[in-house]
Amino acid sequence: MTGLPPAGTAVRIVEVGPRDGLQNERAAVSTGDKIAFVARLADAGLRAIEVGAFVSPRRVPQMADADAVVRGLPRRPGVTFSALVPNLEGLERALAAGVPEVAIFAAASETFSRHNINRGIDESLAIYGEVARAALAAGVRVRGYLSTCFGCPYEGEVPEARVVGLADRLLAMGAYEVVLSDTIGIAHPGQVRSLLEQTRHAVPVGATALHFHDTRGTGLANVLMALSLGITTFDASAGGLGGCPFAPGAAGNLATEDLVYLLDGLGLATGVNLQALVSASAFLEPRLDHPLPSKVYQAERRKRTA
Ligand code: MG
Repeated sequence: MTGLPPAGTAVRIVEVGPRDGLQNERAAVSTGDKIAFVARLADAGLRAIEVGAFVSPRRVPQMADADAVVRGLPRRPGVTFSALVPNLEGLERALAAGVPEVAIFAAASETFSRHNINRGIDESLAIYGEVARAALAAGVRVRGYLSTCFGCPYEGEVPEARVVGLADRLLAMGAYEVVLSDTIGIAHPGQVRSLLEQTRHAVPVGATALHFHDTRGTGLANVLMALSLGITTFDASAGGLGGCPFAPGAAGNLATEDLVYLLDGLGLATGVNLQALVSASAFLEPRLDHPLPSKVYQAERRKRTA
């Protein structure tokens, strides 16, 4: 590692719990509860929150109320709500609901791409190119996810050169940031270093974000390695909600509480109040059918009831 950023450096957390988390929960959370959850996350200081996905309600029933959720959210200065869009139809719904930012989601593995979105990589990029053009023309920012960057549940190893090439294509179509995503929670710090040393030739570190899962307990170690290589944007999910229904064996996202605890300890500036964040997760937990997995969340809850 080359050294961590100095204390006071701003680190941007993109909260994906209301989308990536909830879309993978069995329990049906009501629209009103989703809106209240997002409002609490914003109260906790989260400034970038992914609140839903304008995808097929047949395929992802948990996201069927994305329009109502977005419309019901209180607009707050400094807080950006975003949503996933798979195609132009999804973008139309997103624009009608009034999101200022959308995310497109390509894959670095051909087989995963076909399982996840029913299209091959090149076909998906052709559609995303149109989506990005239309979104930018409407004054909406575009974030570009690239899934399976560290490994694929079907194909295994994913060549780094392919990740670099696809990240470059997402930027070229107008994404302001590319999110290198560890869809199956397999990434190790050694792999993070190796991949980032390749991607930095194509994507500036300021336009690179990382999306880790904590499946193998390496989530925070991966963050530490990425920080040491200049990355300052990380996705996380309140309480550790969610995984991926189309990636067999993928466990929960890196928990926002765990990430904030690490960053607080390093003196990095997230703007997030850990206790308020724990309260947001505690609001949601009884509406699910299992306890939230975040270790920091669990420890703080035990402290409160002790
Ligand atoms: Mg995820």
